[in-house]
Amino acid sequence: MRNNKWSVRQRTSLILVAAVASIAVTALLVPKNRASEQVISQATSGGSSNGKAAENGVATSGSILPGEGLSKVIATIEQETKKELLNLPIPAEFQGRVFEDVNLPKKDKVIALTFDDGPWTDSTVQILSILKKNNIKATFFEIGQNVETYPQLTQRVLAEGHVLANHTWSHSYRQFSQEGAAREIDQTEALIYKLTGVKTTLFRPPGGFLHNGVADYAKSKKYAVVMWSADSNDWRRPSPDALANYVLREAQPGGIALMHDGGGDRSNTVKALPHIIADLKKQGYRFVTVPELLEMDDKEVKFQQAAKSKGDISQQMSSNLEKYKATQKDKA
Ligand SMILES: [Zn+2]
Repeated sequence: MRNNKWSVRQRTSLILVAAVASIAVTALLVPKNRASEQVISQATSGGSSNGKAAENGVATSGSILPGEGLSKVIATIEQETKKELLNLPIPAEFQGRVFEDVNLPKKDKVIALTFDDGPWTDSTVQILSILKKNNIKATFFEIGQNVETYPQLTQRVLAEGHVLANHTWSHSYRQFSQEGAAREIDQTEALIYKLTGVKTTLFRPPGGFLHNGVADYAKSKKYAVVMWSADSNDWRRPSPDALANYVLREAQPGGIALMHDGGGDRSNTVKALPHIIADLKKQGYRFVTVPELLEMDDKEVKFQQAAKSKGDISQQMSSNLEKYKATQKDKA
């Protein structure tokens, strides 16, 4: 079964409970009278009564040391929680699958904005600032070579709350051997991980090519292969108005919009983006990251399955009731 059904809050609570439990267990393990009280009070108050503890014959070299012990535990919890939050697995049904959008009821007006080919000077920063102004989190499919050139931009994308995703190392459209495809994806994954602690789970093949080896390798590594349903065509550099219209005419609940923050002159994308956002907001859309979109679809599928089985059960019950009534009638 999947563990990722656990909400972030549940996981955080669990880690906190585990930490408190570990403090308690350590305290209980300390011998001598009043020793446990002392360890707890020292750990929680941040007091510096090392000497006293030593006087009482309490070993202070355990995992929880007075004062700094608690802050160490908290730092570890924070680090672990951060790692957990950065690396929540995507729903199992999307691992190793290719998709352009997700199925959501029409009333769920959510859409995911995605940006490819960065990080890139100027345009990535400009796009980040537009997203920040609108309080929108997006998904960035980055090219390994560009991450190597602008590592701080990759870190900034993450620091501003966006999702980092894999768009190969060299952005080549050529046919790859399995080793070549592996290098394209693994090298990018490793560099992003080294810089940010994020292990990418989403992949988009350059040019949307699904048959030159890279997408197959990504699927074999359980990546979700994310295509798009609303294409800005911004790589062709249409006017900002035309670019915005391309996205808006294809926008739909559960959709994924494709734009580029890197790989060339993206000034028209930067100009069009505020209009795209304003129009979609006016239509009642909310903006989510691709992993959030997948979670929503997953919940919707589960909800429908539950509704169906509930329907099956009530059908079964009423048919049983009919049968029962019939037997009663026979008896009468
Ligand atoms: Zn690309």
